Amino acid sequence: MDIAIVGGGAAAVALLDALAATEDNAAVDGTGTITVFEPSPHRWRGRPYGPDLEAVLVNTPPALMSVRAGDFGHFAAWLGKRGADHLDPLLGQPLVPRALYGEYLVHSAEKAAAALAEQGRPVRVVAARVTDAVVRSGTRLVLRTDEGQEYEADRVALCMGGGTPPDLYGLTGEAGFTADPYPLADTLDHIAAGDDVAVIGSGLTAVDVVVALAAHGYPGRITLLSRSGVLPYVWQRPDGRRPAHVTVEQVAKLHSAQGYLALDDLVGLLRTEMADAGEDFDELAAQLRSARTEDPVRRLRQQIAAVDDPRIGRRVLQETAHTVGPYAWRLLREPDRVWLRRHRRTATSVASPMVPLNASVLMRLLDSGQLTVSSGVTAVEPVNGRFQVRDAEGQRTAHVVVNAVNAPPQAVPGAARHLVRSLMDAGLATLHPSGGMVPADPRVHVVGDLAGGGSFITSSIAGVAAQASRTAAALRTP
Ligand SMILES: Cc1cc2nc3c(=O)[nH]c(=O)nc-3n(C[C@H](O)[C@H](O)[C@H](O)COP(=O)(O)OP(=O)(O)OC[C@H]3O[C@@H](n4cnc5c(N)ncnc54)[C@H](O)[C@@H]3O)c2cc1C
Repeated sequence: MDIAIVGGGAAAVALLDALAATEDNAAVDGTGTITVFEPSPHRWRGRPYGPDLEAVLVNTPPALMSVRAGDFGHFAAWLGKRGADHLDPLLGQPLVPRALYGEYLVHSAEKAAAALAEQGRPVRVVAARVTDAVVRSGTRLVLRTDEGQEYEADRVALCMGGGTPPDLYGLTGEAGFTADPYPLADTLDHIAAGDDVAVIGSGLTAVDVVVALAAHGYPGRITLLSRSGVLPYVWQRPDGRRPAHVTVEQVAKLHSAQGYLALDDLVGLLRTEMADAGEDFDELAAQLRSARTEDPVRRLRQQIAAVDDPRIGRRVLQETAHTVGPYAWRLLREPDRVWLRRHRRTATSVASPMVPLNASVLMRLLDSGQLTVSSGVTAVEPVNGRFQVRDAEGQRTAHVVVNAVNAPPQAVPGAARHLVRSLMDAGLATLHPSGGMVPADPRVHVVGDLAGGGSFITSSIAGVAAQASRTAAALRTP
């Protein structure tokens, strides 16, 4: 069976790793080639993990950065003693520069490719973008690249990542506006010491921008422009404990017993998990409810103080949002999904927290007055070579605006638009009503943010690895 993988980022690496798992391959037709299509020179690193500043760190503790689903020590084992050079003292765990994590992806891909070659499944990489998919006679699919070459495959896995950052205020083309901040090593160079910098957004990308400016020794004023004014939570020190109740198995059991899954069922699992540890779920729920109304600076200070808090509730929620969440979301009743979408800002800030090291940088800048968080932003407009911002407090100006808004999950990546259209035209896939793409043919698979019907939380490595493992199992099915 010939397999084509479109896109060569973290999802493709996780898929190759899962396909190379020899014990599962024993009973399967192990012949055929695997062709990976990736136009970027930074093969296997995808959008986030290419060369960048040392200060641009991964956002997640090592156990959740493993490309091998279920093997929480895979990345830490690769990192080995080097981890000591990147220790986050508050977290008690290494947090590496994203470019170094990219080396892990390269290593994992090459190792998986070597293992697959030994099993008689050579992996080749085609440095081109796939633009079209067509069905010809028989059961084979044909992929066409932007270089006009055609490649046949029996199955196709689409691992094409997420969309490009939206320009909410129509500022593209204005001098002083950066539409996409990555790599930060290139984009922050043009900011002069006396500039007032406004960063659109207050999520993890905005945190990256602030931390990179601080690492550059930037002395000027920085304002985070946000509608909600909510900053991400801060990771707590991992306790090595794995949930016993909030698991995919328990969710599947509840769903098959009842024929549906309700948010209350998930809350029930978390309640039991917390009760086992002598904790009260209602206390955690009250904390979460206050996220939108509390002063973000006060909350950040509290969060930093709580890194060592031994309570498990938030830890379980943060881990399982990525490991169990994507599976549970698809089973949830629609009214519960609507309710969660209404609280997406709070849910995202809990599910995608910042690392303590970055939180400390933000706190220092907030305390010194160099950084402020503005809420209720309604407009950012170019006026006489500067930018005028309207927010809850009135008006302010900035010399430079950096866009730190992320595309919603399930947005079609720019490089994949043509291919997605052709898959639909060929009847191989359809668009999901709430975004993303759904295979309409058993030969087509989707891994990563583009998978239709997913939640509003951007895929993490843990989520992508879990999806890749399920896709590898499906690809092994004749
Ligand atoms: C800046 C940033 C930082 C992040 N940090 C973390 C983190 O620390 N921890 C974490 O768990 N998650 C993090 N994430 C979440 C992230 O989604 C995953 O970590 C991971 O990168 C997703 O991998 P992917 O392969 O799905 O997508 P990508 O990494 O985006 O890779 C997709 C690849 O597909 C290629 N492609 C697209 N279209 C085509 C086409 N038509 N033909 C051929 N190739 C194509 C692209 O060139 C790209 O290389 C981060 C995300 C971003 C954007």
